[in-house]
Amino acid sequence: MAELVGIMGGTFDPIHFGHLRSALELMQRLGLSQVRFIPNRIPPHRGQPLLDDVTRAELVQQAIMDIPQFVLDSRELKREGPSYMVDTLASLQQDLPHHRLCLIMGMDAYNGFQQWYRWEAILELCHLVVMTRPGASLQEAMQLPGITEDPAQLQQTSAGQILLQCVTPLDISASQIRQCLESGQSTRFLIPEAIREKLEAAYARQCNSGN
Ligand code: ATP
Repeated sequence: MAELVGIMGGTFDPIHFGHLRSALELMQRLGLSQVRFIPNRIPPHRGQPLLDDVTRAELVQQAIMDIPQFVLDSRELKREGPSYMVDTLASLQQDLPHHRLCLIMGMDAYNGFQQWYRWEAILELCHLVVMTRPGASLQEAMQLPGITEDPAQLQQTSAGQILLQCVTPLDISASQIRQCLESGQSTRFLIPEAIREKLEAAYARQCNSGN
């Protein structure tokens, strides 16, 4: 059986339980040997993050520390230019030639997948694992060939399967957490307690620096 590696890309501005719980469930259910969290530097599909690169990466690192199979991968932060996933996957394939890459994304992200830079090339480099997310449902236009609900398909081919998976619905978003910070409300129980202090301090710093 090929070893499956989960790739969890995102802005992580900041990381929260919606990312962490779903990654854990998928790792256990699909037998992923690891999940790599890859914060993007210049997200191609949205505005600039509130938190700086170093802070977002440090918060990810601290949040995943207790799970040995969760790994922070900083390659997009080190790369110049827009953080195109196709480039990230090509470099991962070079580093992990004997692994099968499974790009994990929420249904909201998948619905916009055809706007991603070279999305067809992405499907030649990895499988997609699309997880349910409150408020997002599969758009008809996204019923692409290769869609399946059978995890065994990930072992049949090296790339190109689109696996739909239900995860515990957690209606948490990084935008909601940023709103809490902006309005002075608590972020407790939305993010790991271990990162709360660091996040609040980073936000205060950001405000003081006039950003
Ligand atoms: P923002 O609110 O700033 O847009 P976000 O909460 O969507 O951020 P991202 O870092 O942009 O977080 O998301 C990274 C990936 O995680 C995306 O594929 C997204 O669909 C998925 N994701 C984020 N939150 C959840 C959630 N609560 N449930 C399932 N998937 C999620």
